[in-house]
Amino acid sequence: MGSLTIHSPTSSRRQFLKTTAAGATLATAAITGLYRPASAQKKAIPLLFPTLPYPENALEPYLSAKTLHIHHDRHHRKYMEETIARVKGTDYENATLEKIIKETYGGITMIETLHLMAVLAWNHDFYWKSMKPKGGGELPPKLKTMILEAFGSVDAFKKEFKEAAMTFGSGWAWLVLDKGKAAVTYTKYHESPLLLNQTPLLTTDTWEHAYYLDYQDRKGDYADAFLNNLANWSFAEKNLSAAAPAAPSTTAPAPVKKSEKKK
Ligand code: MN
Repeated sequence: MGSLTIHSPTSSRRQFLKTTAAGATLATAAITGLYRPASAQKKAIPLLFPTLPYPENALEPYLSAKTLHIHHDRHHRKYMEETIARVKGTDYENATLEKIIKETYGGITMIETLHLMAVLAWNHDFYWKSMKPKGGGELPPKLKTMILEAFGSVDAFKKEFKEAAMTFGSGWAWLVLDKGKAAVTYTKYHESPLLLNQTPLLTTDTWEHAYYLDYQDRKGDYADAFLNNLANWSFAEKNLSAAAPAAPSTTAPAPVKKSEKKK
């Protein structure tokens, strides 16, 4: 379960630096990396507001075109434009969202806002890719193997994911790779699994703006539709395959002794 602390704007740098050694390193990197003259910057690779990977009406009837239009063209656009505006003239102008997210996590007010905007921009891009028209259905083989190892059955995984997606309040339910094992997590507001050394495989947005026009208070029905009709398991499989070669074998968990579970 994610439990990141986003330091309040009143936290002083000194307080933050005392908080964690890792955090202090990130904060120091963020301070020294910011506000260099434009002439010192590398060739620009500008951050862009990404288009949806499918038409706005492609996920109907499970998510309406109206929901996708407002969610993508207003909410997501705002997070991306706020991010772009805040990195203008800094070393982060050419950085990836991942780099911005990792280096701006800290207790400095100015960077904190950039951090949360960058996380929301990244999460939304990942969310659109986590769905597809005619999604759901059978899990690809590698993903299915990981799910069975971690949860025992696909239904058990779905039950846990649905419970995470129904967590009260605004957040994100995730299928992640954590220490070489598939896991379900939940992050609040603008928290990122990238800061928890987890590899995101799939996510669903559980802020009200993601589902309210179509489902109102039926958040569980939205979670069911995501899992059974929208989830892009191929995207999760692709993320799993990309992460697997880099997984450190020294921290991999011991193989599950299936014989112990059988009677
Ligand atoms: Mn959203």
